[in-house]
Amino acid sequence: MRGEDQHAAGKDRGAPGKECGDVRPAPAASSRTAGAKARAGIIAPRFVFTVTMSDAAPAEHEADLYWMRRALDLAAQAAAAGEVPVGAVVVRDGVELGQGCNGPIAACDATAHAEIVAIRDACATADNYRLPGATLYCTLEPCAMCAGAIGHARIARVVYGADDFRAGAVHSIFAVLDEPRLNHRVTHTGGILAEESAALLRTFFRARRAPQE
Ligand SMILES: [Zn+2]
Repeated sequence: MRGEDQHAAGKDRGAPGKECGDVRPAPAASSRTAGAKARAGIIAPRFVFTVTMSDAAPAEHEADLYWMRRALDLAAQAAAAGEVPVGAVVVRDGVELGQGCNGPIAACDATAHAEIVAIRDACATADNYRLPGATLYCTLEPCAMCAGAIGHARIARVVYGADDFRAGAVHSIFAVLDEPRLNHRVTHTGGILAEESAALLRTFFRARRAPQE
């Protein structure tokens, strides 16, 4: 579905993206209902994964899965480095232009989200500050900063995994990519391999909360 999210059913999770909490399953409910509850403080989730019934063409959906697995590998690398596990990759015409692991702690850089790192890498590869026709895959719904950068880079499409109810700027908190007052539209698809993305986050935060030896 171009230009809007494709969320069918949802589960809640808690945990803060770039500084998190927990990921917990919620009662069966639509993602919208779960999101409303989260925003109302009835439940305390941050990340929510939704099961997506993608209406992308089969070949496109297969490509989405392939590149999201690549982004998940990068998220795992972030976790191994002690950073919140989020990964991103920028692809155009079936070719990877850039990659990024979330890494603000090691870089002492609040802007070092996976998407920003991947966009910088892709722009360097393309030798161009804009990336028309490119798709950015990210394991977590982009925040407002990253959504802004996606627009500035003129990226054509965003595919992401888990929703982020506390900071997501595709549909959870803001809808930056659909903002009619901005002159660049970005199509987006959420919920691709969202469970895997959420599992990485859940494991990471559980380990971080566990008593240290
Ligand atoms: Zn971000």
